Amino acid sequence: MLLPILRMRIVKFLLLLIFVSGHAFAQVRLPKLVSDNMVLQRDQPITVWGWAAPKEKVTVTFKNKSYSAVTGADGKWKIQLPAQSAGTGFEMIFKGKNQLTIKNIAFGDVWLCNGQSNMVINMERVKERYPDDIATANYPDIRNFFIPTLTDLNSPQDDFPNAEWKSANPKDVLRMGAVSYFFARDLYDQYKVPIGIINSSVGGTPIEAWISEGGYKDFADIQKVINQNKDTAYVQSSRQSTFNNTPKTPKLSDRGLAEHWESESYEPKSWRNFNIPGYWEDQGLKDLNGVVWFRRDFEVPESWIGKPVKLYMGRIVDADEMFVNGKSIGRVTYQYPPRRYEIPASLLKAGKNTFVIRVTNSAGKGGFVPDKSYFMTANGEEIDLKGTWQYKVGQVFERAEMADRQQIPFVEQNQPAALYNAMIAPVLPMKLKGFVWYQGETNVGDPKPYNAFLPALINDRRSLWNDQDLPFLVVQLPNFEDIDFSPAESNMALLREAQNKALTLKNTAVTVTLDLGEWNDIHPLNKKEIGKRLALSARNLAYEDKNVIYSGPTLKSQSISGDKIVLTFDNVADGIKSIDGEALRWFAVAADDEKFVWADAKIIGKNQVEVSSEKVATPKYVRYAWQDNPEGINFYNAANLPASPFRTDGQQLDETKPWKGKKCAVVLTYDDALNVHLDNVIPALDSLSLKGSFYLTASSDAARNRIKDWRAAAANGHELGNHTLYHPCDATGPGMSWVKPEYDLSKYSMGRIQDEIRMCNAFLKSIDGLDKRTFAFTCGHKKVAEGEFIQTLSNEFIAARAVRHEMHTFEEQKLMDINCYSMVEQSGKEMIGLVKQAQERGKLLVFLFHGVGGEHALNVSNQAHSELLHYLKENEKDIYIDTMRNVSEHIQHLKK
Ligand SMILES: [Zn+2]
Repeated sequence: MLLPILRMRIVKFLLLLIFVSGHAFAQVRLPKLVSDNMVLQRDQPITVWGWAAPKEKVTVTFKNKSYSAVTGADGKWKIQLPAQSAGTGFEMIFKGKNQLTIKNIAFGDVWLCNGQSNMVINMERVKERYPDDIATANYPDIRNFFIPTLTDLNSPQDDFPNAEWKSANPKDVLRMGAVSYFFARDLYDQYKVPIGIINSSVGGTPIEAWISEGGYKDFADIQKVINQNKDTAYVQSSRQSTFNNTPKTPKLSDRGLAEHWESESYEPKSWRNFNIPGYWEDQGLKDLNGVVWFRRDFEVPESWIGKPVKLYMGRIVDADEMFVNGKSIGRVTYQYPPRRYEIPASLLKAGKNTFVIRVTNSAGKGGFVPDKSYFMTANGEEIDLKGTWQYKVGQVFERAEMADRQQIPFVEQNQPAALYNAMIAPVLPMKLKGFVWYQGETNVGDPKPYNAFLPALINDRRSLWNDQDLPFLVVQLPNFEDIDFSPAESNMALLREAQNKALTLKNTAVTVTLDLGEWNDIHPLNKKEIGKRLALSARNLAYEDKNVIYSGPTLKSQSISGDKIVLTFDNVADGIKSIDGEALRWFAVAADDEKFVWADAKIIGKNQVEVSSEKVATPKYVRYAWQDNPEGINFYNAANLPASPFRTDGQQLDETKPWKGKKCAVVLTYDDALNVHLDNVIPALDSLSLKGSFYLTASSDAARNRIKDWRAAAANGHELGNHTLYHPCDATGPGMSWVKPEYDLSKYSMGRIQDEIRMCNAFLKSIDGLDKRTFAFTCGHKKVAEGEFIQTLSNEFIAARAVRHEMHTFEEQKLMDINCYSMVEQSGKEMIGLVKQAQERGKLLVFLFHGVGGEHALNVSNQAHSELLHYLKENEKDIYIDTMRNVSEHIQHLKK
């Protein structure tokens, strides 16, 4: 071993060398994720990566084997190691010109947990609720990697400035996200496999910040913002104008501060009574923004003197400073953290002790949040701090000093892709078991776009990790805010509905938490139950424990009979129930006018609820738990999981009416199996949860070469339709000289076209495994030399699409001759015009696209196509949008 001084000299010498010679002495460097105690995903090839000098050879030694790579000109290297089964305590040695050893590596399951403050909230914050869970947190193989808040407006980053892997023990668990810890612990207890949690979350951030630039393919307006944000001058001026528009902190002229109202020697004059908890707006101080002081004397028992005392002051809106006997014992600058102060041992005295609180609030109601704990404690005894205090106003903020809240401030962490770039992109080389998403509070103000953003996020993550099947678990917003005692409109309900739409994508789960919220706290404390429910979803979706029930009842359909509506549910386990034995709460019904009134809801079977109200003779729609805070829900399944909120007025489910009760139907079809269908169209459709019908010619390049992509599209609900084997057309007509003689349909025999169409069906079945198929006539041509051929194939198809520009009503529509509108250079507006015609006339409108954003002479732009899709999505309430297969089956079913 070297003498310390000598060692220091060598270090200094080496540092000097690096300093003077720059690149030539670059060291092998590892990303923060590849570090001591890391968890790597088991059972998949493993990637380790980092940097070194250009052209430097880097070797990693693991389990006595060596693997190496040479860096490129950019100094980056990446080495793949063979898949490992679960285990722990491993070491890797990285060697270039220097050597680094990474210790205590585990192989297990890595989950990326992501969201806003409720995902950030750590065990420290909930320690009073879960003391035993913290004391017993001895799980060396549950490891947490918490990513610090970072933004980048320009491009994806490849590392974090700091962050490390920490094992769960009673000390370090305090820094672990509470939801993710309980989630990890349940999985660990179940499978005894190391669990790695990568927690990438920032309070108060919108979903837009977490989607990558590439994930915004179909969002032209957001792409514009992202590009604008790359312009440094623009960003500078936005920052400046935000700064200029930020209300200057009102000039402090607080009489309380000037006169030292906290001081022991201060003699209170003209203070008035105030009841804590409560808001001062409710106790006589109307619309007051400013500084209000509160005071009260308490006697403390002799036995407390000389002991530290814990003081809980609930929550205070907005900022407070707490004084005991003239000394400050702590302050919190904003409303959300719980007030937990400690009174130092030396401060309390026998007899009278004076408590003073200085509260500052500049918007909304100020004061002390109800239903929270207000007490102090020592020696296992408690003194209640609620009750009558005195108050006096120190300062009133004038309106002129107040916020001008008109302009939306430029906040970097709210910009699209900004958090993705800095806090998700560096994780990309890590293989994952799946994703957990707990976000939405920040988007409640404008919930509609969330319908598009959430699927966009899910598809984005899956494409970035190159695995369309990666499980994605969503935590739905809990009950929160005041209780509405009448049926009401609710943005929170709309956002929860948008979260439920994640379920239209495969391998997703939505964890309902309508029973876990707190009316007065956006950060409810029951994180354990959320973690537990998430773990149930993970077990089913990611661990193939298909018997695990993870969802409460979800609406399947409604049927109306007279003055009652019968609702049928999926995910009922052994049956639905009222968990407290009382009648089901929070159901409302409405007639055509959509005026909702509370309804009686009766369980009438294992999976059915009958809903009615004597005020609504002809009910048409039902809503369940459609409130900000449907407190006290009691509708559960036998597995004690709560039902998911829903409404049937937004999404009609009436199977007994043409177009499922909507005004019209629209089918989007795409012919000739083009690459742009896979690269442009399907991501655009998926981002809005819309489904298309793709007519594939089996011999075409993009049909044959991209079978995996077509299979993924089919698994996601898109239709693969038959467009023959060789795309023959009648070459005799005008403008058809391009048809090759060997594929001239007019020269085909009946037998040949039948064979080739059947071949195409076999090809399609090998991709999607389905038997029900629709057909699209190539060039719209229906005849071979012997006459029309489709009738001879009527057992193979439920519908066939021609190309005549017409639309028909439900009654007129023939299934073996469905017309369509072929699109060539139409604008979004023109296409939307066609949809409006269909809406007015109650018809089935079928669009036919070839190129979308290129690749075909018959083309429309991505922009126009996107405008059409957004119009359809926004008017989904009136338009039945589905694949040709589903619409044809719907017609067939009703016409029987
Ligand atoms: Zn075609």
